[in-house]
Amino acid sequence: MIKKLIQRVFNSGKKQSKQASLKSDGLTTSNAQRIASKVHRIDKKLLSHGALKTTGGLQKAGFEAFVVGGAVRDLLLKRRPKDFDIATNATPEQVNRIFRRSRIIGRRFRLVHVIFGEETIEVSTFRGSHLNEENESRSKIADSGRILRDNVFGNQEEDALRRDFTANALYYDPSTEEVLDFHQGVADIQAGVLRMIGDPVTRYREDPVRMLRAVRLSAKLGLAIDKATEDPIPKLADLLHDVPPSRLFDEMLKLFLSGHAIESAVALRKHGLHHGLLPLLDVVLEQPIGAKFVNLALKNTDTRVNEGKPVSPGFLFATLLWHEVLVAWQKYEKQGNRPMPALHMAMTEVADMQAEKLAIHKRYSATMKEIWGLQPRFEMRAGKRPFGLLEHPRYRAAYDFLLLRCQSGEISAELGDWWTAFASADGEKRVDLLKPETTQKPRRRRSRRKLKSAHSAS
Ligand code: ATP
Ligand code: MG
Repeated sequence: MIKKLIQRVFNSGKKQSKQASLKSDGLTTSNAQRIASKVHRIDKKLLSHGALKTTGGLQKAGFEAFVVGGAVRDLLLKRRPKDFDIATNATPEQVNRIFRRSRIIGRRFRLVHVIFGEETIEVSTFRGSHLNEENESRSKIADSGRILRDNVFGNQEEDALRRDFTANALYYDPSTEEVLDFHQGVADIQAGVLRMIGDPVTRYREDPVRMLRAVRLSAKLGLAIDKATEDPIPKLADLLHDVPPSRLFDEMLKLFLSGHAIESAVALRKHGLHHGLLPLLDVVLEQPIGAKFVNLALKNTDTRVNEGKPVSPGFLFATLLWHEVLVAWQKYEKQGNRPMPALHMAMTEVADMQAEKLAIHKRYSATMKEIWGLQPRFEMRAGKRPFGLLEHPRYRAAYDFLLLRCQSGEISAELGDWWTAFASADGEKRVDLLKPETTQKPRRRRSRRKLKSAHSAS
């Protein structure tokens, strides 16, 4: 079946060897292969309303406009794209003038967001080469080769050349239903290969995040990374240290929420990309309980994503960092701090350390800390306290987290079972479940440790 498709694409290429003449700036005739709809079989009905409106609006105004990148790739792979990007020869200002509900965003990479109800379409102007560009507001390149600003406009062929993988450099024109393929991306997709456009080492130096993208897209799409694309990754992994933490965070979030978090985490380790990025993957995956906990959490996330259920990034990062917190918590307790203050010190330490590499957005780190901070409260099973915990806005997330701790063997399953029973019981049954005041006091734990620390302090 795949072979047949490759053959069809190949034959169609031969038939259509006449070159597409693209007149973005009147200077270039491109080497794009034009692939007709009966060959690529993209179902136009799968395009979103916003994607059709945007390409239609731009074309009506006399510009070129194509659906580009991941959406075309996903459509060829018979997957429903999660969002649509549009490439055009109109400048951001021109795009902005055409669509009433649009705004120009970004500095490193200026583009336009066009809003259609719930849907946001990203429109980017064809990018060109940085050679000979001296204006710093358009092009800025670090000594390492990393592109700091990418706002040099160009024609479509140049735009295709600066995209990362051949599978991501495909342009679909909804009006003609043709795919324009500049780098044999369709053939690579059909052959199941993810291949970097150009020299992989140079391309990774320009943007080290492409290494993470290679791992993520290959895990998500089931594409094998081409050898020349894969080989340099471990040697260049350190380049990721120079990437701004907020950009790394966005990419890691995509990676963990791809529905293929486990494969991605394994692949990150295999390619040596986890060092320093998520120190927890270094340490945690080497300890049996830590590894089990992270694996359970990632599996859980994958199941939810694949069932179309929402996933909380705060919860996810809380799980990924939990065993770091446990280690630091113990350390602070050993230093003589009481459990709750020690936990809070540990939480701050882990969150701060992580922030240096990977800036977890504030709104997520707040959730993360709440989930951690509630864990000791599950041990208090007498009096009014359990009722209070049930009412806490983060109870559900903290309870799910508790169950993962039980499943991984970190704590006794009895505690999780008790809370499951308590939460589902009603009225008097709940009261019956309560533990007697004397035996439950968290101070039991505290006093034991207090004793120890008093001991060591003396
Ligand atoms: P996803 O399905 O996860 O959205 P994607 O390939 O669409 O994957 P986006 O971040 O949405 O990823 O990027 C859209 C397109 O922009 C890509 O398909 C690719 O053509 C181009 N692109 C994105 N990031 C880079 C990069 N770092 N270097 C070069 N091209 C890139
Ligand atoms: Mg995309």
